[in-house]
Amino acid sequence: MRTCPLPNGATMPALGLGTWRMGESKRSRASEVAAVRLALQLGYRLIDTAEMYGEGGAEEVVGEAVAQALAAGELRRDELFVVSKVYPHNASHTGIPAACQRSLQRLRLEHIDLYLLHWRGQHPLHETVAAFEALKRQGRVRHWGVSNFDVDDMEELMRVEHGARCAANQVYYAISERGIEYDLLPWLREHRMPCMAYCPIGQGRLGGDEVLAAIGRAHGVSATQVALAWLLGQPGVVGIPKAVRPEHLRENLAAAQLVLSAEDRAELDRHFPPPRHKQSLAMT
Ligand code: NAP
Repeated sequence: MRTCPLPNGATMPALGLGTWRMGESKRSRASEVAAVRLALQLGYRLIDTAEMYGEGGAEEVVGEAVAQALAAGELRRDELFVVSKVYPHNASHTGIPAACQRSLQRLRLEHIDLYLLHWRGQHPLHETVAAFEALKRQGRVRHWGVSNFDVDDMEELMRVEHGARCAANQVYYAISERGIEYDLLPWLREHRMPCMAYCPIGQGRLGGDEVLAAIGRAHGVSATQVALAWLLGQPGVVGIPKAVRPEHLRENLAAAQLVLSAEDRAELDRHFPPPRHKQSLAMT
């Protein structure tokens, strides 16, 4: 699995599993735990979750699957990179340690590898950063970062004490949503900070695109796999497609091996043109 360097020299896997919409209902719990477990067996080593997803339910799904895999000796904890996110309304001096403790309990883990502020809220950035740094000192998180931050937010973060210790920014990025290529992605590359791309396959919609499908036919893969291969070919970008269906989990992992030709890329640029001016950050 290709890895992506963090600013402090550590690395994270370049492909992971998203978990939004998991943990929302008891009826689908067993199949979701099985999906995360299968992902680990197939070789996924990055899992992205959040306290928001299923109001803790997704973290419980991840916790159950990881506990099973660890107990079965299928992986070591240090091989796995778990990302979770704190709600902005919890991102205060006292709110962050409490929220982190609840997440750790649901995840059944001693530490979170990367803990993100889910989006900007009312608490001042310096307070959030100080609380993240305290969690790092206590060993409860290894790295912290942000999500849904545009260039102006990142600049503001850099001016806060220890703000430059931010390890990653997670934003909406897919071949159909290229706005960040104008300014945010170059900014992140310049600061050697990974861009974690959420909705990397347009929430499944890119599977219906004719141009992606035609390129896919030439390679013997699906349209979705072409979209993901394009994304994973971007330097400094980490993709976290969510999948529950076993065939989706396998396809997405295989997409990481697909190398698109210069002609494929040129055709994709014509169909999904890169931005020519500043665009506001896409969000879901
Ligand atoms: P996504 O990963 O772009 O798409 C997920 C959808 O695509 C699911 O319906 C899935 O179906 C389907 N799918 C997966 N693989 C496929 C394949 N190979 N072929 C066809 N369909 C496929 O969308 P997302 O879940 O919104 O985003 C990914 C992750 O990013 C989230 O799960 C979450 O962890 C994170 N995220 C973060 C934020 C943020 O604000 N930081 C916002 C949104 C998302 P099945 O599940 O049925 O297999």
